[in-house]
Amino acid sequence: MISEAKIKFCYVYLPKLDSVMHNHGPFSEATKAKLESLQKQISELYHFAQKVYDDVSLYVISDHGMAPVHDSFDLMPMINALPWEYGKDYVAFYDSTMARFWFFNNAARDDITSLLSKLECGSIVDQKEMKELRVWFPHDRFGQLYFLMNEGVLLNPSFMGLKPIPGMHGYHPDAPHSYSIMLSNQSIPPDIQSITDIRKTMESELAK
Ligand SMILES: [Zn+2]
Repeated sequence: MISEAKIKFCYVYLPKLDSVMHNHGPFSEATKAKLESLQKQISELYHFAQKVYDDVSLYVISDHGMAPVHDSFDLMPMINALPWEYGKDYVAFYDSTMARFWFFNNAARDDITSLLSKLECGSIVDQKEMKELRVWFPHDRFGQLYFLMNEGVLLNPSFMGLKPIPGMHGYHPDAPHSYSIMLSNQSIPPDIQSITDIRKTMESELAK
């Protein structure tokens, strides 16, 4: 442990901010209080480590952003009203921020695609964009058609919940509240552009 000065790397996972932001909203008093308590906890840990080690590099990273929810949209009844049978003609998975579809007949695919493309609450993510976002896979296990909600609009009800909550993540990576953070007492290399770049930062830190 840190007090024995035997470890080179310590990963501390503090996950509760996520549920506070989901349940109270990212700009709520509860979130502010949680951030302040995290600041205190992390500062104390840092100062403790400084007493035991000569050099302490501190990195604070968040795994995703959080958008304030301002609206919800009930997609399921619209899909259910089409003349296609769930499980026979298609399968859908309704997440909080996206709906994914698999099709067993082309007419169902055409109908559902046409319905979704007319909606203003979100948009279909095409294969080109999936590739650009590095979320395309050469199989359809995760879905054949992806409908992503606009930032701040919750698919509700969904398979994830029955009532809207004030904060949600999982919107488009370019959405204003999707951005994540990396804070450090070290200078952060300019080639850190994505969450997957965290690993190389940690590796170069360990190689110092
Ligand atoms: Zn979450």
